[in-house]
Amino acid sequence: MRRGHNLGAVGEFNQAVILDLIRRAPDGLSRVEVAQASGLSAQTASNITRRLIDGGLVREGERLITGPGKPRTLLRLNASSRYTVGVHLDPTVITYALLDLAGSVVADHRARTPTAPDPAGVIADMAHEISAILERQSIPREQVLGVGIAAPGPLDASRGNVLDPPMLDGWDVVPLRDALSQATGFPVVLEKDVTAAAIAELWVDSGPRRDNFAFFYYGTGIGIGLVINHEVLRGASDNAGDMGHIMVQADGPVCSCGRRGCVGDLVVPHRIVQRALAAGLIAADSPVDRADFDDVDRLFTEFTVLAMRHDAVSREIVMGVATQISRAIVSIVNLLDVDTIVFGGPFWRRIEPALLGAIRHLVNTDPALIPKHPIHIENSGIGEDVAAIGAGCLVLDQSLAPHTSALLISR
Ligand SMILES: [Zn+2]
Repeated sequence: MRRGHNLGAVGEFNQAVILDLIRRAPDGLSRVEVAQASGLSAQTASNITRRLIDGGLVREGERLITGPGKPRTLLRLNASSRYTVGVHLDPTVITYALLDLAGSVVADHRARTPTAPDPAGVIADMAHEISAILERQSIPREQVLGVGIAAPGPLDASRGNVLDPPMLDGWDVVPLRDALSQATGFPVVLEKDVTAAAIAELWVDSGPRRDNFAFFYYGTGIGIGLVINHEVLRGASDNAGDMGHIMVQADGPVCSCGRRGCVGDLVVPHRIVQRALAAGLIAADSPVDRADFDDVDRLFTEFTVLAMRHDAVSREIVMGVATQISRAIVSIVNLLDVDTIVFGGPFWRRIEPALLGAIRHLVNTDPALIPKHPIHIENSGIGEDVAAIGAGCLVLDQSLAPHTSALLISR
């Protein structure tokens, strides 16, 4: 557990510690419990609590009478006191999620990503949509802590630039963070999409607490977000999690990198669609390329419906994909000793009924698996908006969680 310090110089850190404790206690905490759990003196905890109440971030709830002493007043997070907007830029769709201070989704919206190479136009559209969401929900701009944006890597995190991600034409060296901040007037944080998804899993309470896990993002492309010891792992340049070129089939097709059998080339939706087309399971008027987003989306749905019938041909395709994903996961587990893999992303839910059980079995019985503990293979409880929600949570994390860096809310 994070503990506070009774030092004036780290007052903001202590405030974040207390706010974090109250946020994580939906039933409320008394002042005594806040002081005990934070390790701060009763007087310091009381002073900070008063500041949080005065600032509207925390409210006093009901009085609890438990014994002969003074009744205890419960402190709760005032969830509707501040908001963030999370945006997820994907080659196919741009997702917006308005979150309250508790990280709950208040409103969301999706729009098709324009295929024309026009980053400036897309950023202007984003700014317009963010304003529109706030207006529809009647949320004053002063209550917005900031905007988080999740984008496909690679990123130049220090400059806030997107660096020519696959399948986003014209997005070579785009200052997304600063341009969106200028267009909206809000502070903006930029994060790689898979890392944002992992942050959502950390923040949104959707099951048992997980400290060491990989979030397997299954979208137009694949990637993983990593959490080790309850902290997101970003790496030297914030680009950790690109596992697409892990080789999982020695005689597989040639990948864009020149080698054969890379997992990121084999298991993505457009490849599954191509295999199903070649097997005659589904039909299309013309060959389907990975850039034909609408066709891939529709044909992928058609295939996943067929796969539910467990006929021999669709089963062979499904088991091939399950085997390829499982081999990559075993490499990741062996390297990092995570005990859970959480699956999610925009294409996952449709194929999950056919894949999840097979992957669970294949990973846990793989002779190459080193750790002796079971590897939990789970669905994300958050849904398809996970990266947008994670981007919004990132702003909450930077504003509210106990980091020694400056707090946005105290500006
Ligand atoms: Zn490759």
